[in-house]
Amino acid sequence: MNKTNTGKLERLGIHTDMELVLHLPSRYEDETKLTSLAEAMFRRIGHIQTEGVITLSEIQYRPRRQLVVFLSDGANQLVLRFLHFYASQQKQLALGKRVRARGELRQGFNGMEMVHPVYKIVDENTPLPDALTPVYPTSEGVSQNFLRKAINEALERIDLSDTLPDALLNKLDLPGFEKSIRYLHNPPANADENALLDRTHPAWERMKFDELLAQQLSMRRAQIARRRQKSNVLKAPGSLTKAFIRSLPFTLTDEQEKVVAEIREDLVKAWPMQRLLQGDVGSGKTVVAAIAACQAIDNGFQVAMMAPTEILAEQHFQRLNEWMAPLGISVVWLNGSMKKKAKEEVLSLIGSGEAQFIVGTHALIQESVRFANLGLAIIDEQHRFGVGQRLVLRNKGGNAESIIPHQLMMSATPIPRTLAMTFYADLDVSVIAKLPPGRKPVVTRLIDQKRRDEVIERIHAATLGGRQVYWVCPLIEESEALQLQTAVETHAILTEALNELSVGLIHGRMKAAEKQAVMTDFLEKRIHVLVATTVIEVGVDVPNASLMIIEHAERFGLSQLHQLRGRVGRGSIDSVCLLMYQKPLGDTAKKRLMTMRETNDGFVISQRDLEIRGPGEFLGARQSGQAMLRFADLEKDVDLIGKAASLAEDLLNGKLPDSDTIMSKHLARWLDYREEYLNV
Ligand code: ADP
Ligand code: MG
Repeated sequence: MNKTNTGKLERLGIHTDMELVLHLPSRYEDETKLTSLAEAMFRRIGHIQTEGVITLSEIQYRPRRQLVVFLSDGANQLVLRFLHFYASQQKQLALGKRVRARGELRQGFNGMEMVHPVYKIVDENTPLPDALTPVYPTSEGVSQNFLRKAINEALERIDLSDTLPDALLNKLDLPGFEKSIRYLHNPPANADENALLDRTHPAWERMKFDELLAQQLSMRRAQIARRRQKSNVLKAPGSLTKAFIRSLPFTLTDEQEKVVAEIREDLVKAWPMQRLLQGDVGSGKTVVAAIAACQAIDNGFQVAMMAPTEILAEQHFQRLNEWMAPLGISVVWLNGSMKKKAKEEVLSLIGSGEAQFIVGTHALIQESVRFANLGLAIIDEQHRFGVGQRLVLRNKGGNAESIIPHQLMMSATPIPRTLAMTFYADLDVSVIAKLPPGRKPVVTRLIDQKRRDEVIERIHAATLGGRQVYWVCPLIEESEALQLQTAVETHAILTEALNELSVGLIHGRMKAAEKQAVMTDFLEKRIHVLVATTVIEVGVDVPNASLMIIEHAERFGLSQLHQLRGRVGRGSIDSVCLLMYQKPLGDTAKKRLMTMRETNDGFVISQRDLEIRGPGEFLGARQSGQAMLRFADLEKDVDLIGKAASLAEDLLNGKLPDSDTIMSKHLARWLDYREEYLNV
């Protein structure tokens, strides 16, 4: 790249010539046409470019200091008004000069005028440009002119030859790369501006396709590279696995059997499993993870399970301990708020290998945690963790540095198809598509906040029938303290209104031990109604709870509502979810609440969520803010994603002549420092 330009360009995140030419316009200005002053006077409104000779140029002081310039063609007159200007501009706009001005026409005090037009001094023979003028995304201090010049220079010195052969492009019905990129930077005067703006123009399609292809190739290469890494072979089935499955109080569903088999096959391989287990809230992922854990323990390895919250981690611990301790397995648990002494004991059990199954929060990835021989890392609610955090756990393999534990990630937030095909293309995915039998769908009702009394009546009815109730307090984004206060107040109000019942309270500020005591009381039915903040959002499992009340449901996101609702309907009893809302409702809130009322299906909900919010939220920390796809749109470009994925597949399988050359050329063009990130 040209040395003198680097500083400014780096401000835009541009480091190479290729990045520079891939800095594509966000829109265009049409300077190819000239509207005569006569026609401008006739039109009176609109964005136009016109020309005239200066007949007056002076600073006026009313209503405030400003530069006023009169343009004329002899018969018609246009006023140019500059409220901010430099002395140099005033000098430049001298009497008798010919000016080409572009801007919005409006009716002013002295007839038609333009405020702050873009202009240049011309003479009668200055030609009009024959291409639309690109307008680039930029930041302060980097002018359009500078960018245009830098990009046009780069276009001349860089290799723009195609990465894909003509025959292939014909088949894909895509234009050439060089033609496309030149077109986008300098579209002809007659270009379809709308197609350029909404990026449906073939030239745009080509850019998007190339970008997607590079991403697919990179993801798949990462997947292949994974196979060259080493993991311990975990043979199956062992006696522990069999005993565990026999000891369960239920039989596995076909869906669970299927994913158990998929995982079992991965674990016997000598390279690391990297599998995402998807299943709706309540579909029974934990037991699947436990079976995988048995396979590792059977082979003499340790297993770690990491969960995003203390409540969830502790609950996993309790359940797993209940299941596995009778089989002679040592299950331990680790969290951040443990007392020093207790923690040290657990750490030493982990380090010595005595602890076989280690359940915990983020505490598991701290420096001080040393595993003796970690064979399998399980991450629950994986979307709550960043790539970095998952990597740390993966790198805690124990003795042999180069051996990587198998990794099982779990999520109840289904990934929409387009995301699965792009950002998650490097993972193997298992899906539990159905809930265990006997579950009844939760009935969801929307209730105006004003009808709180009726809600309290319902609580009476539910508890009389021996059921338990969750009451979730409103999310207050801006203040955790305020959220806490609301929870405490609600608890007091409900305690009074339901004086014959036991009302509990749980929130994020409580100590882990306090939270656990409350959850145990709730599980053992000493608490009838549990007032909670969103700490109960993920994973909590109390099958006897059958009524879920969410206050100010309009403030919650869809997946959050779905997760919360998933806390009920876990047993075989009829469950109800009451979403209390306060009017007026915004459009988005309305859509979310309707979706909740309509369906219990996590996949449908996540698809709607994608439509309502866009993909950003789903990706979470996966790309930590780095927009890996700049051009392609996950919703609009489904077809292109499909085409790119299948071409990537063909290339990697060597199905095309010169597959390798094509791939390396394409990746060299499109991937630079990004690839590193893609490979984690
Ligand atoms: P999630 O997939 O949301 O993590 P859990 O693993 O917490 O779901 O399972 C929800 C409940 O379903 C638990 O109480 C679990 O013991 C129970 N469960 C799991 N599998 C089955 C099954 N095959 N039959 C009956 N109940 C099951
Ligand atoms: Mg779970």
